[in-house]
Amino acid sequence: MSSDTSRPATRVIHTGEGSWPDAAPLTAPIYQTSTFLFSSAEELRRHQAGEAGQFIYSRYGNPTVVAAEEKLAVLHGAEAALLFGSGMAAVSTTILGLASAGDEVLCCGAIYGNTLGFLTQIATRLGLAVRFLSIEDTREPSRAFGPRTRLLWFESPINPTLRCLDIAAVARACRARGVVSVIDSTFASPVNQRPLERGVDLVMESATKYLGGHSDVTAGMVAGRRTLLDPLRTTRRLLGTVIEAGPAWLLARSLKSVDVRVRRHNENAMAVARWLAADPRVSRVLYPGLPGHPDHEIARAQMDGFGGMVTFDLDGSYDRAARLFDRLRVFRRAASLGGVESLCSLPVLTSQYGWDDQQLARAEVTRGMVRLSVGLEDPADLIADLDQALA
Ligand code: PLP
Repeated sequence: MSSDTSRPATRVIHTGEGSWPDAAPLTAPIYQTSTFLFSSAEELRRHQAGEAGQFIYSRYGNPTVVAAEEKLAVLHGAEAALLFGSGMAAVSTTILGLASAGDEVLCCGAIYGNTLGFLTQIATRLGLAVRFLSIEDTREPSRAFGPRTRLLWFESPINPTLRCLDIAAVARACRARGVVSVIDSTFASPVNQRPLERGVDLVMESATKYLGGHSDVTAGMVAGRRTLLDPLRTTRRLLGTVIEAGPAWLLARSLKSVDVRVRRHNENAMAVARWLAADPRVSRVLYPGLPGHPDHEIARAQMDGFGGMVTFDLDGSYDRAARLFDRLRVFRRAASLGGVESLCSLPVLTSQYGWDDQQLARAEVTRGMVRLSVGLEDPADLIADLDQALA
């Protein structure tokens, strides 16, 4: 998005002090306020009756947040989008907003660690039945559906193996049985993948990653049809998981460059992945853009670019992976991904930390895996850094 077309969707109530009725800002301002003014009981009554005004209290809604949500809805081709204080706030609010005690949630077992933690440690305590599927079973989920299955949660590309699921096939199977399909599309960003176009019901992203893009915002988003988002809006209000105006503004600013940034992430990651794949010191490279990746054809069919994440294996050896990690100079040692600076993490110490061998095997993660979030630096510098670290 090159310019800010959205005007704050609010009627400013002028109190005299600090109001400039003729000012028409190019960018949506930061409405750093917890509450909104009313001029009379009648005006407040009309607001509560849904007859006038959109804003009463920022946990319910804030113009800066709405401006960012409108941009996200456009990027994902959605009727609407909702913003949350983090990706996990989006995950938890979505699951709690759509499923009730006694319902079953199916989830691909190869999933972001804290999503798995939320399902096993919190959702089950509230009476949801949770079942994890292998990647292969998630491809054909209809066999797994039971009478109480309400929701299927999956990721594509999957962290950290970059395995991809056929989004249209999963969505079709869910729709045929009235199961709500939700994809965590964080690794792709809407520049590379717009899952709603493939029939999925809801798309979720940790906006902390490519959408924010500068490693300075924690946020989450869900986009889709209004009828599915309405219960989530209520749940967000009751749980208090909404984003603040400040980070929403930063996110809206980042969205103006997301297309350019992600294209460069794609190019740099492809260059790094090709170089790693040609190096005999590396036992395996996982990048959906490489023809040797097990899901290359699926990725080609449903993605416009293959993303900025590259994972490689050093013979399953934690010691080798840790040694490389310690020697890096340009890649920074940090969790998270999707920012302009290149980062390196070891999945068994971050996203899959504490997983047992069975959980790691289900997610196809080894102890020798190194995960790169390839940033926007000169790819020659990144490759030289990996070369010296592998030495
Ligand atoms: N989903 C994926 C794939 C992630 O990688 C992350 C964070 O790393 C999350 C969800 C959670 O997002 P957040 O850290 O913004 O809560």
